[in-house]
Amino acid sequence: MSRTRELQHRWQTVMMENYGTPPVALDHGRGATVWDVDGREYLDLIAGIAVSTLGHTHPAVADAVTTQVSRLGHTSNLAIHGPGVELAERLVAITGRPGRVFFSQDGATANEAAYKIARRHGWTKDPAGGSLEIIAAEGSFHGRTMGALSITGNPAKRIPFDPLPTPVTFVPYGDADALASAVTDRTAAVFLEPVQGEGGVIPAPPGYLAAARRITAAHDALLVMDEVQSGIGRTGAWLAGDAASPDVTTLAKGLAGGMPLGACIAHGEAGLLLRPGDHGTTFGGNPVSCAAALAVLDTIEKDDLLRHATDVGQALAEGLAGVDHPLAAGQRGAGLWRALLLGEPVAPAVETAARERGYLVNAVRPDAVRLAPPLVLTPDEVERFLRDLPAILTAAQGDS
Ligand SMILES: *Cc1c(COP(=O)(O)O)cnc(C)c1O
Repeated sequence: MSRTRELQHRWQTVMMENYGTPPVALDHGRGATVWDVDGREYLDLIAGIAVSTLGHTHPAVADAVTTQVSRLGHTSNLAIHGPGVELAERLVAITGRPGRVFFSQDGATANEAAYKIARRHGWTKDPAGGSLEIIAAEGSFHGRTMGALSITGNPAKRIPFDPLPTPVTFVPYGDADALASAVTDRTAAVFLEPVQGEGGVIPAPPGYLAAARRITAAHDALLVMDEVQSGIGRTGAWLAGDAASPDVTTLAKGLAGGMPLGACIAHGEAGLLLRPGDHGTTFGGNPVSCAAALAVLDTIEKDDLLRHATDVGQALAEGLAGVDHPLAAGQRGAGLWRALLLGEPVAPAVETAARERGYLVNAVRPDAVRLAPPLVLTPDEVERFLRDLPAILTAAQGDS
């Protein structure tokens, strides 16, 4: 029996069934390449769901983590530590506006902090009744905890856990008129992704985020930009939605290059709504994760990876758009974050066929295959994938 099969058997006995059984068991990695426990090599075009920004085992991250864990691995929130303060300063500087940061462990808990800020805002603007309504988009994903789940516009994920915190109204993503009709003086906040990730890598139409800013400002509602997947270089910019000047921005996935870390950045009044005692976490903003994030930010700057992600992303987009195969139906996305669109709902078969030929990709929707590779992906690696893609699609057609 292969090592993979053996681990799958053991997994099926001791792990809860929420993920199903993953088809691959990874052992080690370098750059954009990973090897499984049976020694098979893969080009990693999904990077642990847009997380491994610098690829695998990047020396800057490995050194930062090793140095910090050998010096001081944990403080809790009872003490200040240098890497946390420095990282908060760097993130605020990236937004270009004064702001304040709360560090969490991941994307859902960054959005929980934003949710609490929204509740505080609703009670501040309307102390008698509370203007607590939240507006979010259909097809959105904000996380699996109960607050973040309540604003996730995917009924299959949400309904099994009803009742969730209310009131929440879902509007079609990208439709500024629908948003304008939904937001009222009772609205506490609007939560939007600048590019919907789990929804299928769908960029906001031009002008939509700016319209959201105008609409929320007119009703004294907060605009919360969920950049958990889009932030930290994924789209070729540090942030994908910051031009709209949101009140709150959340980050996580790519922030610490694979270490668990989330951040909720708030500006102006929104940065002061959580009062002492209102919120907290034992592990959030752990010094090792913060040191890793600083290494990620430094390396993106030093190696000009925003430009690299833009250029390589462009090459990938052009290649996907030009794939000569009856299944291929175009592409969409931004930067180094793309969905290959399919003429038939066979994305799972494409994911499997790609893996069998040495590529890790993700069937994000039935008819869309998501690519979110490390930002260090090389043009040669893109070319190799594009060369093999028609054969992968043909194999998927045969399997499905
Ligand atoms: C992944 C994701 C989350 C949830 O992050 P977790 O770290 O899985 O809790 C929230 N928002 C967006 C946009 C995401 O892509």
